[in-house]
Amino acid sequence: MKRTYSIHTRILLFFIACALLLTALPAYSAALPPAQEAQAALESRPSIPQKPRPVAPITPLPPLVSSTGPFVALTFDDGPSPHTERLLNALAARNVPATFYVLGSQVNQRSHIAARIVAEGHELGNHTQNHRDLSRQSAANIRNEMTWARNAILNTTDQRPATLRPPYGALNRTVQNIAREMGYPIILWSIDTRDWERRNVQAILSHMFDRNGRPTVRCGDIILMHDVYPTTIDAAIITVDRLLAAGYTFVTVSELFQIRQIEPVPGQIYNHLRR
Ligand SMILES: [Zn+2]
Repeated sequence: MKRTYSIHTRILLFFIACALLLTALPAYSAALPPAQEAQAALESRPSIPQKPRPVAPITPLPPLVSSTGPFVALTFDDGPSPHTERLLNALAARNVPATFYVLGSQVNQRSHIAARIVAEGHELGNHTQNHRDLSRQSAANIRNEMTWARNAILNTTDQRPATLRPPYGALNRTVQNIAREMGYPIILWSIDTRDWERRNVQAILSHMFDRNGRPTVRCGDIILMHDVYPTTIDAAIITVDRLLAAGYTFVTVSELFQIRQIEPVPGQIYNHLRR
């Protein structure tokens, strides 16, 4: 049965429909997608600063050292010697790390000192087994000198030396190629204290301080000393105290690369890591 409505009923229904539509509109506007809603809110409140977008969480590496420098690497060659432990005591008392370019032959004689060097947070580098001038050796001898020293260090300390310092700084293409094959960046120095030549504390200090005792050491310098002379140990302790007082931070050679964010390249020669 078809239902019919009078004209009055139709007008009444029309108004009811309009009223329903008007009440429904605010509800529709409130149901805007969240992004549009947020945008509308931002536009209506322009004085409120926008929060920065959250970024993917990255676990930051702990800072290697809290200081901002100037950074300097102390290096001691030819040990471990009977004088090394006095140096280690002084470095431990000052919480100062160093890098020791040890000889395999000396590590074999004084393995307990080599182990102590590593245990106390210092770095060991490869200074070959017998301190031969590598630039005058056959390729086989060069390889042996580096390998024997590496094995002596590895067997004693479980630490693989990361860098090589050739005796006398003597190099040629063959030495460089073998260093590259064996994964060794070649570390020389920017400050030669010549402590082996003049066994005199003031003479050694003159390479790092001016007449007024002010440091002439630059950030990124690598200082060469030999922990086999008592005068060197005396001079090294004074050097550490004066440079600490002047605000320097001591780091190992590998730490210096990390701070500079330089990837050490095997076979490449580094005299310093100044900026
Ligand atoms: Zn040497």
